Amino acid sequence: MTSNRFLLPCSVLIVFSMVLLSTRSQQKSNSLLIVNAQLADGTGSPLRKANVRISQGRIVGIGQLQPEKDEPTLDAKGLVLAPGFIDIHNHSEEGLQSDPLAETQIAQGITTLLVGPDGESPWPIIGFLRGLQQNPASVNVGTFAGHATIRERVMGADFKRVATPVEVTQMQQLVSQGMNQQALGLSSGLEYEVGSYSATDELVAMADTAAKAGGIYMTHIRDEADKSFEALAEEITIGERAHIPIEHSHIKLGTVGVQGKAAAYIKVIENARKRGVDFLADCYPYDAWHSNLKVVVPDKQYENPKSVGQALASYGGGSHLTITEFSPNKSYVGKTLGDLAKANRISEVDMYIRLIREGDAAHTEASIIGQSMIESDIKAFYQQPWVMVASDGGINAEHPRGAGTFPRVLGVFVREKHWLTLPEAIRKMTSLPAQRLGWKDRGVIRGGAFADLVLFNPDTVIDRSTYANPTALPTGIEKVFVNGVLVWDSGKPTGVRPGLVLGLRGPVLNTLN
Ligand SMILES: [Zn+2]
Repeated sequence: MTSNRFLLPCSVLIVFSMVLLSTRSQQKSNSLLIVNAQLADGTGSPLRKANVRISQGRIVGIGQLQPEKDEPTLDAKGLVLAPGFIDIHNHSEEGLQSDPLAETQIAQGITTLLVGPDGESPWPIIGFLRGLQQNPASVNVGTFAGHATIRERVMGADFKRVATPVEVTQMQQLVSQGMNQQALGLSSGLEYEVGSYSATDELVAMADTAAKAGGIYMTHIRDEADKSFEALAEEITIGERAHIPIEHSHIKLGTVGVQGKAAAYIKVIENARKRGVDFLADCYPYDAWHSNLKVVVPDKQYENPKSVGQALASYGGGSHLTITEFSPNKSYVGKTLGDLAKANRISEVDMYIRLIREGDAAHTEASIIGQSMIESDIKAFYQQPWVMVASDGGINAEHPRGAGTFPRVLGVFVREKHWLTLPEAIRKMTSLPAQRLGWKDRGVIRGGAFADLVLFNPDTVIDRSTYANPTALPTGIEKVFVNGVLVWDSGKPTGVRPGLVLGLRGPVLNTLN
């Protein structure tokens, strides 16, 4: 259905919507006072005791507030009250359709998740966002525009080459279209097939277009293995040439050749930051990654025994690579490449090549988990003030990060290992991602901010998802509010779905009609 009144310029409608949202008629009957909580307000400030009043989806008071007559109260004694966690790198775009309650996400305290990372996004953006408005989720959702998604639309199956100037211009037009349809920026996944053939200039051009529309550049860089430093240099070049804020996805040093070099890697980033590059990163709290079988071999010679042998050695051998999904032969699932080679009495190299051939024959590829990061690097990254927490997981993830990331940081890195303080960990889950996205009224507990809130027990919060059981729910997250509405309570979803669609300027209300 189309009508002329929906053809008003987007900006007019956005302003109109913001006015509507900020009209806080403080009807006390609709308010709730949370009392006796320890506040971790998202800024990194020390915990403090305060009562918090929420009403009409917003935080309307903080301090020594007393309940009004008939006002409901929630006693949060012994619990920490924090802003809802913002997961800037989440793969739930499909999961949200089948599981809009997003149980594994709200159970962790996630109240906002951003999809479309690693260069692959829904398309057209507007279709995806309209779908979410019609069938809302329990959490707020936004999306990036994917570089590979756009590249494939322009180049079709002929993507295994550098794009022509005409094609780059067409890709820029699609970036513009995505940004107009409320994408948060451009994402890329340069280690993956489609993105890997792009030249730096192509990425600069597309990032420049995203930057002019106020977007960020979120990137899974070209190499997280032996060529990590070269890939980092390219990323910084793209940021500098396109004048765009960078979000470095899942920072890691993922092969034996670069393990232990976090200090040098951090130094390169610090130097870029000193030169004015707006560089932030995220890191998931696990020493194993999850990807496709082909990313293991950087020169793409998947059936060349020499290339495969070198690649497997760089990950410490086939015992570090576990198959998590392989539709042509389910019996491989849960086994390492080393196990399979032994069982078949062939070398690990031959087993790898067999998996590639069986996958290619079925037009698919095995999913794998590779255990190849070391704790000292993860610790060094987590201790940088410009590194935030993000899951790289999502609904139905095959890696425990999909259901465990945020409670794991709080339970293991804060409580057990003392790598960082609780307020600093909360800052990395809330105001830091909000800052990256330019959102001023989420990620912080402040009067007027949206009431996305998490109440958790700092003494018990812990992840329970494992590689064998990746969707097991964490414990210790007691209550979760999204836009002032309780979505998670005492171990289960409440069944309500108050999540909004979010763009760069906040909620996208009628602007998608
Ligand atoms: Zn990635």
